[in-house]
Amino acid sequence: MGQGLSCRVQDEHGLFTAVQFGDLEIVKTVLERDPSLIQQKTVYDRHSALHIAAANGQIEILSMLLENRSVNPDSLNRHKQTPLMLAAMHGKIACVEKLIEAGANILMFDSLNGRTCLHYAAYYGHSDCLQTILSSARTSHVASSWGFSRFVNIRGGKGETPLHLAARQRRPECVHILLDSGALVCASTGGHGLPGSTPLHLAARGGSMDCIRELLAWGADRLHRDASGRIPYAVALKHKNGACAALLNPSSAEPLVWPSPLKFISELNQDAKALLEQALMEVNKEREKAILKNTGYSMPSPSHSDTTAMDDNISEASDSQLCCICFDQLCAIEVQDCGHQMCAQCTLALCCHNKPNPTTLSLPAPICPFCRSNIARLTVVKVKVNTADQELDLYSSPKQRKSRKSMNLSEGSSSFRSLSAVPSFGKIVGRGSGRVSVDIEIDKP
Ligand SMILES: [Zn+2]
Ligand SMILES: [Zn+2]
Repeated sequence: MGQGLSCRVQDEHGLFTAVQFGDLEIVKTVLERDPSLIQQKTVYDRHSALHIAAANGQIEILSMLLENRSVNPDSLNRHKQTPLMLAAMHGKIACVEKLIEAGANILMFDSLNGRTCLHYAAYYGHSDCLQTILSSARTSHVASSWGFSRFVNIRGGKGETPLHLAARQRRPECVHILLDSGALVCASTGGHGLPGSTPLHLAARGGSMDCIRELLAWGADRLHRDASGRIPYAVALKHKNGACAALLNPSSAEPLVWPSPLKFISELNQDAKALLEQALMEVNKEREKAILKNTGYSMPSPSHSDTTAMDDNISEASDSQLCCICFDQLCAIEVQDCGHQMCAQCTLALCCHNKPNPTTLSLPAPICPFCRSNIARLTVVKVKVNTADQELDLYSSPKQRKSRKSMNLSEGSSSFRSLSAVPSFGKIVGRGSGRVSVDIEIDKP
């Protein structure tokens, strides 16, 4: 009998190791010999084979395990964490997709921090996992039972939303996705954790300029006080994030805010939206440069190339029009229905010019500066390349005029003259990769 027991223990250990290292054949053999092992969990952390496969990104084994009807896709470990949470933590996107497809519940809370898989994807900066979970929430029962926007702003045990965590952990890409999905920029952590903190307070703490830029562009309030009466500026100073503090200083120039209340802005197609969002970030970066110049801080070296992205592959498009407002950039945006064109920066200047009405938070709708007709829609200008007859749009094949030499970036004014490179949103997320041992260590924030 003793021998039988030790044999089983050996098989059990063999199974978990084989799952961890992705040895499908051994997993199959062991499970054929003793099918009950599929329900077995590790001694201390109570990880099932499914947890281990998910955390290590062993998609083949994960799929094989899920084919067995007795396997619960939402089995819980010691901290009431599901395999989906572990896959989201470790950025194993294929496993996240497979688990969701197999019916894993995205609305489970662990007992460690009271967090969901969405919190973990945001915390660890796995934007692909974050996207997948969000799109599942849009279509699954969560949308009908909970409501999608409630899910985006779901709170952990310390009152933290996924946006708080992404801002705190310096994950600008996740911050962007969450804001774009309806995360509340001014959400407060309430009485828990760091009481009364908004995402901007936590970004000030984390020290990510990219996160702060995103939040400010979404209308985050620099004057919001946490429970101890501190504004984000004071938090940045306390944590010695000097450059962040310069941006958060209420007396420094205000950044442009994405004019989301405007109807035609909420109805933009993907191309036009991306073009205007990038222009907004560029304008705000130029403002930052001016602010930082005065304070003696320099821009931290960006994670993306600031200059080269668009200088390649420039072929002159002779019949594209120079913007008649700034005479600097090419027309990129067309006003519908009148058909007048201007550059992305001038379009933004037009839309962001008015302050929202403080009581209704609605923006007065701008009108076409050329003919004063109402703006029904904004579209991306199609430009014809000289030689070929094919149409390209400005966004996918940028042809910004090379105006760097003539630009004078240091003279602040209300300079909208500064777009020649369009960087992608910063990718500074460190992706934790590598194998996870059977007893998974979970970083605690
Ligand atoms: Zn212009
Ligand atoms: Zn017009």
